[in-house]
Amino acid sequence: KADTAMYAAKNEGRNTFRFFSHDMNLASIERMNIENGLRAALKQNEFRLHYQPQYSIRDNRIIGAEALLRWQPKNGAMIPPAKFIPIAEDNGLIVPIGDWVLREACRQNRVWHDAGYKLLVTVNISALQFKRGNLLESVKSALSESGLAAEYLELELTESVLMFDTATVIQQIAALKALGVSFAIDDFGTGYSSLSYLKRFAVNKLKIDQSFIQDLSSGKAEDAAIVQAIVQLGDTLGLLTLAEGVETQEQAERLHQLGCHKAQGFYWNQPLPPDEFGALFDAD
Ligand code: C2E
Ligand code: MG
Ligand code: MG
Ligand code: MG
Repeated sequence: KADTAMYAAKNEGRNTFRFFSHDMNLASIERMNIENGLRAALKQNEFRLHYQPQYSIRDNRIIGAEALLRWQPKNGAMIPPAKFIPIAEDNGLIVPIGDWVLREACRQNRVWHDAGYKLLVTVNISALQFKRGNLLESVKSALSESGLAAEYLELELTESVLMFDTATVIQQIAALKALGVSFAIDDFGTGYSSLSYLKRFAVNKLKIDQSFIQDLSSGKAEDAAIVQAIVQLGDTLGLLTLAEGVETQEQAERLHQLGCHKAQGFYWNQPLPPDEFGALFDAD
């Protein structure tokens, strides 16, 4: 097919354009397939949540779990969130999908609580869930259906969500905080204007982006400076700091020295299906 397109294009003397449109077609066909698949995926129960343990660095104990969405189509390979979440955000499907994530994460955490493991579960939230959906109602029903206490649910927002700075976002965050739900800023340090909204939104935690953590292994003092600055900022404002994407013991030790409170990453665990996560407790 590609050869035919190239041949035809060359004959027309417009091969650059032809190549470009051929690639575009592949990309838009893949996109269309994902979009069609996503519509059916909720009904067909193709979503799963994996949980990545979050540790207290000081005593190396599991204190929380980040819920990360996985899509396993019935007949096909697993599709990573980076591929389908942007599409679901574009077409609005992230609102019902996000509702499912909230319900499922609360349900699972209640199961762990009942087994005696008091964890904080953290859930990623997209901007559209504030703008188009009704996040407050979604969270309330996820909590009441599961019977999970609000203190054990944390919502992760990226700086782009906070940039909207609309009255609805502010109101919904305030109402959710009044319920007892906490908030973290995800990928902290990679977005814009990180500082002014820290005052406006009164979040509880900064998740230091993994790009800054990777630099900790370089051994150069200046590469630790950003992490150190974020930890100090957090301490000053009374916010917890959690390092994302910790992959080596060296990084974990450096973070401990720098006074970072919490961490997650491949050094400890990959995101795990719930039964494997539960097995970590038994091994404890
Ligand atoms: P995120 O919220 O920043 O999640 C962290 C990502 O880093 C996850 O990728 C996780 O698997 C990966 N990770 C964890 N430890 C390490 C490590 O040590 N090294 C490296 N290199 N990576 C690590 P994942 O699961 O592919 O998710 C990608 C992104 O998709 C998430 O980034 C989040 O923005 C989005 N996402 C995932 N689940 C949901 C969801 O339920 N709702 C929404 N709105 N977004 C979600
Ligand atoms: Mg996250
Ligand atoms: Mg992150
Ligand atoms: Mg991210």
